[in-house]
Amino acid sequence: MKSIPESKNCLLCGREMTWRKKWEKNWNEVRYCGEKCRRDKNTLREGHETEILNLLAQRAHSATICPSEVLPPAFKQDAEKMELVRQAARRLVHQGKIEILQKGQVIEPSKFRGPIRLRLKR
Ligand SMILES: [Zn+2]
Repeated sequence: MKSIPESKNCLLCGREMTWRKKWEKNWNEVRYCGEKCRRDKNTLREGHETEILNLLAQRAHSATICPSEVLPPAFKQDAEKMELVRQAARRLVHQGKIEILQKGQVIEPSKFRGPIRLRLKR
């Protein structure tokens, strides 16, 4: 009996992808969790990783930031722009660089809802 392959993270949104039957033939090549992430992969080039890390570098090591702080004022209420920052935050978690917190607790990056804070990994 074949064992089910380990899950991995979408290269774009950073959400965990759990192996599914439809990926049986090409799991090794699957990089994105779905059509939307594959289509949007060019947003990776202008990802917010550097801005997040720069902002955190300016603060005390234990300080947290709100993801909206990396956006210009005009975009702070823009849900789509915010999602791009959140995606970059998830990717940074997978790189071992930052942590995502909710109510002071480090959370798993695939599953949160609602407001989050970011800080450098301890
Ligand atoms: Zn995705």
